[in-house]
Amino acid sequence: MRIGIIGAGQLGRMLALAGYPLGQRFVFVDVDEDAPGAQVGRIIRGRFDSPAALAALAASVDVVTFDVENVPQSAAQAVAAKVPFYPPPEALGAGQDRLDEKHLFRSLGIPTAPFAPVDSQQALVEAAESLGLPAILKTRRLGYDGRGQVRLDTLGDLHDAFAALGGVPAILEGLVRFDRELSLIGVRGLDGATAFWPLAENVHVNGMLRQTRAPWDDAGLQADAERHVLALLERFDYVGVLTVEFFCVEGALLANEMAPRVHNSGHWTIEGAVTSQFENHVRAILGLPLGSTKATGHAGMVNFIGQLPPLADALAVEGAHYHDYGKTARPGRKLGHCTVVRDKAVERDAALTHLMSLSR
Ligand code: AMP
Repeated sequence: MRIGIIGAGQLGRMLALAGYPLGQRFVFVDVDEDAPGAQVGRIIRGRFDSPAALAALAASVDVVTFDVENVPQSAAQAVAAKVPFYPPPEALGAGQDRLDEKHLFRSLGIPTAPFAPVDSQQALVEAAESLGLPAILKTRRLGYDGRGQVRLDTLGDLHDAFAALGGVPAILEGLVRFDRELSLIGVRGLDGATAFWPLAENVHVNGMLRQTRAPWDDAGLQADAERHVLALLERFDYVGVLTVEFFCVEGALLANEMAPRVHNSGHWTIEGAVTSQFENHVRAILGLPLGSTKATGHAGMVNFIGQLPPLADALAVEGAHYHDYGKTARPGRKLGHCTVVRDKAVERDAALTHLMSLSR
């Protein structure tokens, strides 16, 4: 089969790397002909909403998926009218607006942080009065990796905050004093079969994922998180991988956001689970049986942002696996990651500390 992927970033590249052993071939749509996917497939040059590029993709593959969340739902629907398209465009659209996403979570009984819509400076002041401060103001659309959001601690911070964020529709969220951040990745096949990887613990710095450890071993939280992700998978008759990021507060989960795709917090599954998130996404969209999501040890992942450590230094860490996405270095850009998998959690943590010391 030929698989089309809208977006040729590192996620698309890792999807292709997982699909080649299964005999699949890959074609991408991306504006950048040097994007990470170019190393492992053909690039059709064009924006994610380019009708010409998307039509060319649909004409040259058997099934289409995406590695970016900002493909407009209408563009996804146009592709889906021509060729099977997974995950469903409706799920893609649901994750694009933080306010709709929160309403969706609540409608499915999935707890969230307190929130209020903000469409003006006046609405911001009223929202801050009702939710209290500190709080985080986020644009409803197109925010990622901490972009499009600002923390408001004092009444003085409210001044001009709506305009400073671009004067676009926004949402105010109460600041959650979380004990930790966890994510759960689930997958649903064409036949409706589901599987979930163990919870992963994530550390973000300036809104960007820095480190992941998995499994986070808590049977109660795992069951809660699986129930929430299952509700979303069923709501959309979903096919493929779906990720939900949670705050863990005093032993309970609050959903922060969903990503209708493979996720950075699941990179550990390449070496640390029987079947990776990438392979299971490929299996799901092809209607193949899903593979086991069991962890094979204690895994840790470090993101390399802005600069890659020397290959030899990273590989000198016992058990380290290095992933260089082939991108040009730029501050704040995710350039690669390393994963370690060990039999004991303490050994994994020591290796992670070592890897962190190699990266900024
Ligand atoms: P997001 O873009 O919503 O995933 O936010 C990026 C990161 O910012 C999260 O992973 C948290 O570390 C932090 N963050 C976002 N929203 C909140 C919140 N309401 N309370 C506390 N921390 C938050």
